[in-house]
Amino acid sequence: MKDCLFCKIVKKEIPADIVYENENLLVFKDINPQAPVHVLAIPKRHIDSLNHVSTENQVLVGEIFSKIPEVAKKLEIDMTGYRVISNCGEDGLQTVPHLHFHILGKRKLRWPPG
Ligand code: 5GP
Ligand code: ZN
Repeated sequence: MKDCLFCKIVKKEIPADIVYENENLLVFKDINPQAPVHVLAIPKRHIDSLNHVSTENQVLVGEIFSKIPEVAKKLEIDMTGYRVISNCGEDGLQTVPHLHFHILGKRKLRWPPG
């Protein structure tokens, strides 16, 4: 989608520190990390948010989840644990309107989140 920040990262128009990539998805380091490990897993195809997940794109979204164990292992957080978050909409404090899953680890996270 034109003018979408994460679509531009997918197209390599904006640089990102990529930790995993295949034809359908991309995992890259968050520019403003909230934990020693903080990456974003996104579908390459633009989806606005969790509100737009449906049977039409469930395979793609499922593929992101199926890759999380592999990514966690690569980032060496699989044994110590981690958290996956998707902020949705205004109250969820979503700032980039392209579906993404934060993966945070390598520190003891607090609960509940703010
Ligand atoms: P949200 O606030 O929508 O849940 O998450 C958006 C995330 O994207 C934020 O954690 C923010 O730090 C990250 N972010 C914003 N702009 C960029 C960028 O240009 N590059 C990278 N790698 N991350 C970004
Ligand atoms: Zn996009």
